[in-house]
Amino acid sequence: MSQVLVVEDESAIAELISINLRHAGFEVTIAANAEQAQAAIDGVLPDLVILDWMLPGQSGLSLAKRWRTEARTRELPVIMLTARAEEGDKISGLDAGADDYLTKPFSTNELMARIRAVLRRKAPEALDSVVEVGPLKIDPATRRVTRDLNGDTRDVKLGATEFRLLHFFMTHPERVHSRAQLLDRVWGDHVFIEERTVDVHVKRLREALSPVQCAHMIETVRGAGYRLTQQVQALSA
Ligand code: CA
Repeated sequence: MSQVLVVEDESAIAELISINLRHAGFEVTIAANAEQAQAAIDGVLPDLVILDWMLPGQSGLSLAKRWRTEARTRELPVIMLTARAEEGDKISGLDAGADDYLTKPFSTNELMARIRAVLRRKAPEALDSVVEVGPLKIDPATRRVTRDLNGDTRDVKLGATEFRLLHFFMTHPERVHSRAQLLDRVWGDHVFIEERTVDVHVKRLREALSPVQCAHMIETVRGAGYRLTQQVQALSA
């Protein structure tokens, strides 16, 4: 399930956003200030953050700036909320690295539409859309993986973790992902789970893809990590 961190000190607004997000199938964590937000991020990296600009203590703006300077949070999708409507403030928010910007009061429909747009662009693994790479097709809504080769369609049976791993690979094909990145994005935990765990599940994923002749699509990139590719053997170790 995709996770959204809502950083908002006004509890009525935080609650309203959370209810809508949970309705749409997201898991929600609420933080009331920058310290709580940072603690939440240090634990589990969410798929997206809704960040209020005006917070007691450290502002949302400086928090967003800090996240953009750190490797682990550089790509974290952030939508900023603010009561300020001036053009200069919008520019500061976008300069700080926000992916989108919403001025209060906003409609929850608009917020949900913007969340989906940002996720499509930056974290497609957080959405339920069907994804196809080469002969493989994955449908998160029905949890079905199929391999279609010249009209011959076969099901691929995967465990829950292998399913999430393949979904992440298929929404970010041809890119190399380190074990630490995979722990963050697929397991949501880079602290307490050993990197060896990734190797174990990649092995299981390859075994599951082997009967449909797709195991070679998951490549080991020596010293870097793993990637899903259609360019057979291009980078394999
Ligand atoms: Ca506020």
